[in-house]
Amino acid sequence: MSAQIIDGKGIAAEIKRELKGEVDNLGKQGITPGLAVILVGNDSASQVYVRNKSTACERVGIYSETRMLPQETTTQELISLIEELNQRRDIHGILVQLPLPPPIDKKLIFTSLSPMKDVDGLSPVSLGMILWGNPTFTPCTPAGILELLQRLGIDPQGKRAVVVGRSRLVGLPLANLLALKRKGGNATVTLCHSLTPGLASITKGADILIAALGRPLFIRGEMIKKGAVVIDVGINRVEDPSTKKRYRLVGDVEFESACKIASAITPVPGGVGPMTVAMLLKNTVQAARWSCLEK
Ligand code: NDP
Repeated sequence: MSAQIIDGKGIAAEIKRELKGEVDNLGKQGITPGLAVILVGNDSASQVYVRNKSTACERVGIYSETRMLPQETTTQELISLIEELNQRRDIHGILVQLPLPPPIDKKLIFTSLSPMKDVDGLSPVSLGMILWGNPTFTPCTPAGILELLQRLGIDPQGKRAVVVGRSRLVGLPLANLLALKRKGGNATVTLCHSLTPGLASITKGADILIAALGRPLFIRGEMIKKGAVVIDVGINRVEDPSTKKRYRLVGDVEFESACKIASAITPVPGGVGPMTVAMLLKNTVQAARWSCLEK
């Protein structure tokens, strides 16, 4: 048996085509969706992500603006910029690229974001609304995973879903979304982390297994139930002197062995990553649509 390779890149491209149509329609009403991306410091991976997001915006007709701040930026300076962007009528979405340099108080930063512009879905209001069952903006990676499952006709209802990793960015919101009493939810969810004993016996019970732990090739074939759907969120750089960049990207799942057991699996790259970007664009278009209602 060899798993179906889930074409996240292709599905993301389809979503972007749909969004382009919506952006054109908004344009007829005199609205160009606008996204501001804030990057603090000089983390090289973050620079790549920010560039990709801005290119993706351009392609669907979303205005994007990148604000680069130095490594030594203070919490107050960052809040001042966010407050300025909260007020701008041409900016509908604000994204603060993570990670932020450690002295910056992340909770204060995300609290200062206007919930109506929090297109990355990480403010306390956005995260809290998930538990109320009607998310405003869903964090982009979990949103991308739910969208992938939906477009592939994989209904989590009644399935055992195991999420490995409990970050606020991915695992925690995703586990809650999968457990919600609504379409696309209704799974029986287990959330695992670094202190979970007997991880393999838990992952082996999963009909849907989501690996979001940031450990290269950690989940191997023997940890997977036969026929499971495997979603690999991990993006890890591993040294590879044979490549020009001297590294390559791998996921949290050992792809080769997992392919022999799973029924479907996302590759890295080309799986969840492009869906995350597509969901950012989708949330930004949604924010622009809401701004029309405010007028
Ligand atoms: P974090 O480092 O914030 O969280 C990792 C989580 O994994 C923690 O909850 C940690 O547990 C858990 N964990 C770590 N080691 C183990 C282990 N041995 N067994 C079980 N659980 C473990 O990572 P993120 O959630 O931010 O990211 C996870 C991965 O996903 C990374 O590779 C990241 O690059 C990638 N990513 C990909 C995105 C995409 O678009 N494809 C978007 C965002 C992230 P504990 O809480 O106990 O420490």
